[in-house]
Amino acid sequence: MKDNILITGGYGLVGSQFIGDRYKKFSSSEYDLRCIKEVEDLFLKDFNKVIHCAGKVGGLGGNMKYKGEFFYDNIVINTNVIEAARLKGITKLVAFLSTCIFPADVEYPLTEDKIHLGPPHYSNDAYGYAKRMADIQIRAYKEQYGLDYKCVIPTNIYGPHDNFDTQNGHVLPSLIHKCYIARETNTPLTIWGSGKPLREFIFSRDVAQLTEWVLNNYNEKEPIIFTTAEEISIKEVVGIIVELMNFKGKVIWDTHKPDGQYRKPSNNNKIKKYLPDFKFTSLYEGLEETINWFEDHYDIARKGKKQENYKYEKII
Ligand code: GDP
Repeated sequence: MKDNILITGGYGLVGSQFIGDRYKKFSSSEYDLRCIKEVEDLFLKDFNKVIHCAGKVGGLGGNMKYKGEFFYDNIVINTNVIEAARLKGITKLVAFLSTCIFPADVEYPLTEDKIHLGPPHYSNDAYGYAKRMADIQIRAYKEQYGLDYKCVIPTNIYGPHDNFDTQNGHVLPSLIHKCYIARETNTPLTIWGSGKPLREFIFSRDVAQLTEWVLNNYNEKEPIIFTTAEEISIKEVVGIIVELMNFKGKVIWDTHKPDGQYRKPSNNNKIKKYLPDFKFTSLYEGLEETINWFEDHYDIARKGKKQENYKYEKII
């Protein structure tokens, strides 16, 4: 049977990297995934596998400000989509977790078996707990119904089609947009925190490729982490963005703003074991492509709540 894969969040950061006729995409204005009736209608369409990218996501700012929304939207969307897949008889489904759902206080590096060993960092606990329930639901469905559904755990994803909201977005799209504004208006670029925290970033196209591999080939009970296992400080990242965007102005470090978690290094043993030759896009190349996309699509790029034309189409 020919594969027809439903991509929820198909126009978002990762979803937009699935390109071709066999990927079925719908916007949240057509189907609001928080509403079970609309999800049931969506699942009447013709597809036989599901890559579930949709979710309510944001960076440190959004996670702290909108805890209620982040909890409710994610837990309801995941519960609805996974249950609708079961009722339709879908045998292959992948859902997304994120390394930020791991316990704040846990021995590093993060591995797939440590998700539930303690509370997430307070800055994103509502999102973290809601997302963790997708893992619980999938484990339960495997045990009761024998379903071969899986969760993947990418580190901090970035790329074209991200949400470039300066207040609520993830650090890279926020900083790209802030740097753009600073350059265009001849004003300083203000960075949150000390610049010392370390993060691992992964390009959206790499995530899409790895996810489709998991959909068809990965059979372990535990989720699988997608990581380059390369940590970089926020300070170094700012250096790359400033260079690529040709920003010559002043950079200010606003230490009144939160640093969030200092680091969350993750372990790449599993992904390396299965795909030893996978070539991750380098952060420099990925940022160059993302910045070029943003500058070329400034008018249509998502930049904040008001400008969002689709709300639930982004992952993690
Ligand atoms: P996290 O990885 O889940 O903590 O979330 P982010 O992607 O939002 O990354 C947060 C890190 O980037 C923290 O150390 C912030 O202090 C730092 N940071 C610096 N400037 C910004 C900014 O403009 N937006 C965001 N979201 N984070 C920033």
